[in-house]
Amino acid sequence: MCGIVGYIGYEQATPFLLKGLEKLEYRGYDSAGIAVFNGNRIEVIKSKGELKNLRETVSKHKIEGTVGIGHTRWATHGRPSDINSHPHKSCSGKFAVVHNGIIENYIQLKNKLMNKNINFVSETDTEVIAQLLEYYYKGDIIDAIIKVMSRMEGSYALGIINSDNPDEIIAVRKESPLIIGIGDGENYIASDIPAILSKTRNIYRLENNEIAVLKRDSVKVYNLDKELINKEKIYIDWDISAAEKGGYEHFMFKEIMEQPKAMRSTISSRVKDYDINFDDVKITVDQLKNLRKIFIVACGSAYHAGVVGKYVIEKLIKIPVEVDIASEFRYREPIVDENTLVIAISQSGETADTKAGVIKAKELGARVLSIVNVVGSAIAMESDDVIYTLAGPEIAVATTKAYSTQLAVLYMLALKFAKLLDKLSDEQYKYYIDELNALPDKIEQILSNKEDIQYFASKYFNCKSVFFIGRNIDYAISLEGSLKLKEISYIHSEAYAAGELKHGTISLIEDGTFVIALATQDFLFDKMVSNIKEVTTRGAVVLGLSCGHENELKAVTNFQFFIPKACDIMLPSLAVVPLQLFAYYVSSMKGCDIDKPRNLAKSVTVE
Ligand code: GLU
Repeated sequence: MCGIVGYIGYEQATPFLLKGLEKLEYRGYDSAGIAVFNGNRIEVIKSKGELKNLRETVSKHKIEGTVGIGHTRWATHGRPSDINSHPHKSCSGKFAVVHNGIIENYIQLKNKLMNKNINFVSETDTEVIAQLLEYYYKGDIIDAIIKVMSRMEGSYALGIINSDNPDEIIAVRKESPLIIGIGDGENYIASDIPAILSKTRNIYRLENNEIAVLKRDSVKVYNLDKELINKEKIYIDWDISAAEKGGYEHFMFKEIMEQPKAMRSTISSRVKDYDINFDDVKITVDQLKNLRKIFIVACGSAYHAGVVGKYVIEKLIKIPVEVDIASEFRYREPIVDENTLVIAISQSGETADTKAGVIKAKELGARVLSIVNVVGSAIAMESDDVIYTLAGPEIAVATTKAYSTQLAVLYMLALKFAKLLDKLSDEQYKYYIDELNALPDKIEQILSNKEDIQYFASKYFNCKSVFFIGRNIDYAISLEGSLKLKEISYIHSEAYAAGELKHGTISLIEDGTFVIALATQDFLFDKMVSNIKEVTTRGAVVLGLSCGHENELKAVTNFQFFIPKACDIMLPSLAVVPLQLFAYYVSSMKGCDIDKPRNLAKSVTVE
């Protein structure tokens, strides 16, 4: 959520700050701003709305200077407005702060400062940080920061500049992500890698409660005891084009098209000659044998990947699986103990609720295995075991390739555990591995028929409401298809277990209602035909999605799309692709902001 950038070097700071913020737009924001030290004092320019508003103001009031910080805000405290945008200054203007996160006790802190006649100009929690810094600053900035940190509750990544020490940027992390880019005679801070990738590939990842002091030629990192910490430099080998649009009109389309590659990388990094290599996963066979229950904890699409995971794991390993929305899991009393495995899924690895779920699960004694896309992210660090999806950077807010690779990891995990627990014969196991290896080519095949989906989208992009129905694992995919459509096209949609429709929701079906019926599971095909008839009888127009049963499907639906055959548990990886494409084309035909849908953020780092 939101983006932080910072620059210290010998070049002008503003161009980098604006470019860096552009690269972080995908995280979702409602306003933006920069602060630059102009040789005399700190100048701030900020404006509500898109980055182009900020660019316009900056082009009229140039700020010259070689040290600066920038921010895209996703408001949590105080509505989006020019004044509430970051950076925020302290009352004398000595400190400027950008902040990602929430200061939970800001009201108490604000009242305390107001009682000392310190005036506030914004409604934000962030302004408290700038004012506290000035209040506690007695000549040593690190001392002041440590004191401020000891007073604040909540989550924060901070970029700070101050006019007493104009040749440095301070970066602080607690919970919210922040990285430092290491350059030659210049250094950078950023919330995420794409912001600095055009400048450097060497980074430090700040951990919780670390304070970094960036000068032009050095970066020093301290802990809360003001002791220097040795940080490990990480080299980022991402392709720059992988972090950019690479010729496609939208990141989302590029990422849909990258799915075969992302799946291949994720699978081939683990599967060799019928062996699934999870040597880095330390859970033992004895621990597996003692497992009474598996929890999958996640949010949004990752949760939907978890729902597929439940069907797959229960089928292959025969251990009960409960899938829980992380924001629910963290505040209830789940029955979790040392014989429970909790699988946490998050693309960014920074999802606040999922992270809280991980911490809770560990407190309750469970072993935690996480599936994340971003190396070294908070959830990865908190977990006992991590399996990385190799999806590469995902920029579009609506996930596609990260979701697909999460499914791939869940299949591999289920197969590996089933093998270790002797739940599969050699023959079955090999069959599944062959099916797994075949998935990327089959996805390619579906993508080569994307025009068919474009055609359905062109007929129905104006509809008011769409229902997705399916049974069993097709229901899990309906959930994801429905979410994809509503998040980027703003069309109301619902996913229903097909057999459940008649218990209420069918009253919403009327003449012309568009229904997408997933019927990929052979053993349930006839049941789906009955459910399709239930809705067509009431006037629905149905797009049927299956892998076979061509004539039967044609007889009961208005349109059909066929995916290649695959083993039942892996069909979701194929069935989801036309649904992603449908959402994409509908959104494009409606002229929506596909990569940055309204009100949404890519990585949700606040509760
Ligand atoms: N809580 C801060 C605000 O509302 C920061 C929000 C963000 O992370 O962008 O200004």
